[in-house]
Amino acid sequence: MTSSSRFVFVFIALCLCRLVPAQTSILGFSSASAAHQSEIETKFKSIPDPNEELRQHRIFTAEPHVAGSKRNNELANYIAAEWRKQGLEAVVIRRYDVYGTNPKSASLEMVAPTHYKALLHELPIHADPDSKNPAISGAWLGMSISGECTAPVIYAHSGNPEDYQLLRANGISVKGKIVLVRYSNPYSYRGFKALTAQREGAAAILIYSDPAEDGYKQGKVVPDGPWGPEYHIQRGAITYDFMVPGDPVTPGWASVPGAKRIPIEDATSAPKIMALPLSWHDAKPLLENLDGPLAPENWQGGLPFPYHLGGERVQVHLKIEMDNGTQPYYVVEGRIRGAQLPDEWVVLGNHRDAWVFGGVDPSSGTASMMEMTRALGQLVKQGMRPRRTLVICSWDGEEIGLTGSTEWGEQFADELRSKAVAYINVDEATSGSNFHGQAVGSLAPMLVETTRSLQDPSGKSLYQAWKESAAHGPASTPPSSKIDDTHLADTRIGSGSDHTVFLNFVGMPVIGLGFEGDYGVYHSAYDDFYWMNHFGDPGYRYHTLMSQLWGVTALRLANADVLPLDFAAYARNIRAFVDELSNGRDMRQLDLKGVRKEIDDFEAAGKSLNESITRELGSGNIDPKLGAEVNRGIIEVERNWLNPDGIPGRPWFKHILYGARFTYAHLELPGLTEAVEKQDWTTAKRQAEILERALETNTKLLEQLRAALDR
Ligand SMILES: [Zn+2]
Repeated sequence: MTSSSRFVFVFIALCLCRLVPAQTSILGFSSASAAHQSEIETKFKSIPDPNEELRQHRIFTAEPHVAGSKRNNELANYIAAEWRKQGLEAVVIRRYDVYGTNPKSASLEMVAPTHYKALLHELPIHADPDSKNPAISGAWLGMSISGECTAPVIYAHSGNPEDYQLLRANGISVKGKIVLVRYSNPYSYRGFKALTAQREGAAAILIYSDPAEDGYKQGKVVPDGPWGPEYHIQRGAITYDFMVPGDPVTPGWASVPGAKRIPIEDATSAPKIMALPLSWHDAKPLLENLDGPLAPENWQGGLPFPYHLGGERVQVHLKIEMDNGTQPYYVVEGRIRGAQLPDEWVVLGNHRDAWVFGGVDPSSGTASMMEMTRALGQLVKQGMRPRRTLVICSWDGEEIGLTGSTEWGEQFADELRSKAVAYINVDEATSGSNFHGQAVGSLAPMLVETTRSLQDPSGKSLYQAWKESAAHGPASTPPSSKIDDTHLADTRIGSGSDHTVFLNFVGMPVIGLGFEGDYGVYHSAYDDFYWMNHFGDPGYRYHTLMSQLWGVTALRLANADVLPLDFAAYARNIRAFVDELSNGRDMRQLDLKGVRKEIDDFEAAGKSLNESITRELGSGNIDPKLGAEVNRGIIEVERNWLNPDGIPGRPWFKHILYGARFTYAHLELPGLTEAVEKQDWTTAKRQAEILERALETNTKLLEQLRAALDR
């Protein structure tokens, strides 16, 4: 699973950040340190090798390795052994005993008006030897409940609440029936579709891949192109991790062996509905037999017949058996101890578990991580140890409910809150050549600056390539020539990957990196080595670039004299969030003048701090004691965006600037926005006050840091 960014439009921050300085300087470095850093980066970038990327990618994609499987656990041991060889320190494997979800059996049969037994597995493709592997799982969705029913089928489009309203308007109830919904259009997390069906009283939900979204209507399909073939099945979990991620029976604390557990019946993130994914091959016989009203134009799909809403005509028998025994997940952790500031951590992570082979998701990221760690290890062997500590993690069970990273983040929350500088996530390293860089507002300028020092396989700088692909924009938006540096990084961060616990629970600034392209085999057996070598990244050049980019970004954060976080830029992001909240809404009931004033003050304090830092760095060398004091304060800022009570109704999600909708889509100022959307003005006022106080606290903090620098 990754950020749903492929499907969610990138909303561009309406902010104006200061211009990135020329590459002779680096944000957060004095000129002497910048020269030294450039040497380190040049050395570092020369190490990742496309042949090694391919070799590692082959190891990770050789066999299916779903969370909790023997193969995935072997890969944990493999990573630990490799890291030790590469020179990483304190390599450990951490175990979490979690509520398991594995398929035992599933069957789906149409019993009327004709008989059809669904295949529920993906057929081999001659050109792709891995597609013949007998270990490939059938159709299943993580956290489905077990059960059996025979019921009529209703087509509910994308399975969003408004779709059920339309069904109701047509006199159709889904109570006790089986809803058939499609992925995407517009994209929303399948867990939200399951929750919505559960709330509507459906007996079960079937989620299929319509060729209009990721199949032949988009372009050539596997083995001739990157889009999903007839039999591809999008597996995935339906966990309600938008309520609380991680192991459903340990919400808010770590599932270490022996930890307290709540009954599964009481777990808010555990679905209470049967769910199964289908290929369009298996959905077609159901869809073409549906009667009832003709579905509206925008509900029609890519199959060559009109879609109907359904009635009593199509009856199916569904049976799902799951194994929910407790099972261990393993997080591999390694580090490179900082030479000067060992107690300041830059944390890097990628998940290891895959629905099947995980060609893109996540093994492209895992291969890039292994080449990045090899290069980091070589630097250390050559005497170039970073100033701060790098902590590198291979997560488990991301696909189930962001589980490994969540449990690890919960276990070490206190230590992270005192030591962690930032978290850099790579889930899918590459499904194509278009760079997508995400960062919280304060880290966006340093991310943009970093891309200037990397070379894209096209021969341009990554910065230039990014700018051009960003100007082209998502397919559905008109091209824009006006993408300036302040609009490049995506500062809208939802959920759907392992950054979630660090941003929303621990309060760490986060960055997410990925290259994207046409990709129609997500979570299917065809997302594999063949796909990567023919479509995603033939030659492994983008894997190599990812290793370089990820490492250079980490090394800048690890080596900076003053941490390169830009709070004036952050303030402009927050102002844009508030503007969007107010846009086109009747806001007479809510006075945001106080919030706006605090944003202005925070921006002014951020600007002054930037100036003082620039002056201090320009003076040559910064006094280490003063540097330490300023860096402590800079680290503190993100923590101050946390509200210990969390956002209303979702106490685990504590960040007041960033949250996610139930669809995983980004949701800025989550507590405030949700209250305004509900027109709950009492809660909205309270949330605005919380935002005001946090801004005030951070403004004071920045002013103190500036005063310290100006002493
Ligand atoms: Zn993933």
